[in-house]
Amino acid sequence: MKLDKKKKSRICLACGECCRRYWITILPEESKRISKFLKVSENDFLEKNCVLSVKVFPKTVPGLLTCPSTFFPKKIYKSIEKKLGFSPQSFFVLPQIALKRNGKRCSFLLRGNSCKIYSARPEVCKLFPFIVLPGYRESYPFCGLYRLGEAGCKNLKENRKQFRTVQKYFKKIDKNGFEGVWKTPPKNGRLFLNEEAVGEISISDLNAILAYSNSEYSE
Ligand code: SF4
Ligand code: SF4
Repeated sequence: MKLDKKKKSRICLACGECCRRYWITILPEESKRISKFLKVSENDFLEKNCVLSVKVFPKTVPGLLTCPSTFFPKKIYKSIEKKLGFSPQSFFVLPQIALKRNGKRCSFLLRGNSCKIYSARPEVCKLFPFIVLPGYRESYPFCGLYRLGEAGCKNLKENRKQFRTVQKYFKKIDKNGFEGVWKTPPKNGRLFLNEEAVGEISISDLNAILAYSNSEYSE
């Protein structure tokens, strides 16, 4: 692997590690783009190729998408309590949609580490590894681009832009609800606690949680 000094461009080793390690989340406009690329309706794409991906983080200060734990479905709350060993009062909730996985890899990863939807792939795939997140240096030792250091990551501006786009997405959900943003979301998916998968979650569980998640909530 070399860095193209002339073009100062990033060189990806195409090792496919980033496609294996992460659940890839998508934004509404990416869902439209990918379904168009696959020549299927967006409903079909969301149903066949995607799952819910809901991340929750214990939180004490009310704010955007914060939900008091009393409104969490009991089964989900119990599994979280068991995992944490204590009972959080409220959670910060990040509801998203992710691409399905096929065993230990993104379902669009093909043999030879090529991507089935390459030209329409989500921004997070294009921008990996993210260099605006704190601790990024320690987070991606497996990535060839990381090994090039900042010279391998010439996409700081795009990283920041994407960060702001994702912030806007969560604000929209806070304002309009999940199904106000996603008309036909997948019915089921994964619940993550502090980034670790801890169980299943359904769209009705998520709606129950989000019904009480808003910036006005105060303890
Ligand atoms: S969409 Fe393509 S680039 Fe993104 S994780 Fe899946 S296979 Fe990799
Ligand atoms: S971005 Fe990094 S981890 Fe992903 S395929 Fe390229 S070198 Fe591998």
